[in-house]
Amino acid sequence: MPKHIAIIGAGPIGLEAALAAQSQGYQTTIYERGEIADAMRQWGHVRMFSPFSMNASEEGVALLQKADVKTPAPEAILTGAEFIEQYLAPLGKELGVKTHTTVKSIAREGDGKRDHIGEPERSDTRFRLLIEDRNGESHATADIIFDCSGTFLNPNPLGDGGVPALGEGQLRDSIRYGIRDTADLSPLADRRTLVIGGGHTASTIIVALGKLKEAHPKTHIEWITKRPSDIPCARIADDPLPERDALSEAANDLVVTGKVHFHSGKTVYALHQIDGSIKATLRDADGSFSETQTDHLISATGYRPDPSLARELHVQTCWATEGTYKLAASLLGETGGDCLAVAGFGAETLVHPEPGYFALGMKSYGRTPDFLIRTGREQIVSLLTYLKREA
Ligand SMILES: Cc1cc2nc3c(=O)[nH]c(=O)nc-3n(C[C@H](O)[C@H](O)[C@H](O)COP(=O)(O)OP(=O)(O)OC[C@H]3O[C@@H](n4cnc5c(N)ncnc54)[C@H](O)[C@@H]3O)c2cc1C
Repeated sequence: MPKHIAIIGAGPIGLEAALAAQSQGYQTTIYERGEIADAMRQWGHVRMFSPFSMNASEEGVALLQKADVKTPAPEAILTGAEFIEQYLAPLGKELGVKTHTTVKSIAREGDGKRDHIGEPERSDTRFRLLIEDRNGESHATADIIFDCSGTFLNPNPLGDGGVPALGEGQLRDSIRYGIRDTADLSPLADRRTLVIGGGHTASTIIVALGKLKEAHPKTHIEWITKRPSDIPCARIADDPLPERDALSEAANDLVVTGKVHFHSGKTVYALHQIDGSIKATLRDADGSFSETQTDHLISATGYRPDPSLARELHVQTCWATEGTYKLAASLLGETGGDCLAVAGFGAETLVHPEPGYFALGMKSYGRTPDFLIRTGREQIVSLLTYLKREA
């Protein structure tokens, strides 16, 4: 009887994991809380910086070509929406995905958190998943879990130290979190917008706002980062991903030419709503405070995993990144901001004390931002080799 793998999330990594596992004879069930690639759909309007050949497996392309689906050229730089339409959605259709089906929690059948701690008997029982779909709640079972649920649904709060700024909770509905709320920037035309955050997501938003300002010159853009720096985006020398480098350059140019007002070394201390606008109190590295008034606030301060899904299992995550512990230890040894330079680590770094539970993809990185789809595909190959060896 082949082992049954429950795959949580039909993002790029969940789908590739299912394809690879099926080709090795495993039974798989893919659970997706929304539509196929639901997280990526939320930034479908953004162009990716890695070419199609880095984001898709040869096996996936071959499967689609067999099904008469025309796949993109290897060098194509697609938007998120194009990648879904031309690759992920048809792939999901071939593999079979239970869409609009949320996995609410995972446990061991008959074994509680405190049972068989560190003992081989822990793997004698199957996993039991609590599922919710349009028909209500039900249970499912599996021998192995691939948790590919990502982090995109949990944006970090705005405040200093990773906790919400004072007043952020009350203003939550007025704040745009991450890239997902930036498809339509027209309401921001000729208004004041404050962007918080220093990564590629923030740069993408700033460049989009710069375009809006070209058509609506009264648009006022302020950009705040925590890291003290003269320029917002540190460029990677000889960046092998030209699209990524062009993004950093365009964002920096907007600052240099004065179209975007940039302040570094500041964090958001408090937010207040005043007469339809937002007053942000900012804290400097030296402990002093300043204030700025804005009509719109966009938070691009990264994402964090939701640990509640596997809370009943023996999951070991890093206290600093909330990523898989051994992987995080290897990743913390890496330096620089270039995700292409990050080595793929072996399957041993994906192992948790809970036998048969593995976080793959963005979730395995926790809060570490440098994850690439290509890295996730490498994880899948090494994990399936490991499982074969251990069987
Ligand atoms: C703007 C932007 C641009 C990017 N560009 C690139 C790029 O060019 N190249 C690159 O390699 N990477 C890029 N990335 C990173 C890329 O998004 C991630 O590498 C990739 O999406 C991670 O895939 P994943 O499958 O691990 O997670 P996700 O894509 O986040 O997929 C997780 C899936 O799990 C589902 N899910 C979550 N919880 C549950 C649950 N409890 N039950 C059921 N389903 C659940 C979600 O709905 C989602 O569909 C970019 C990211 C952003 C934000």
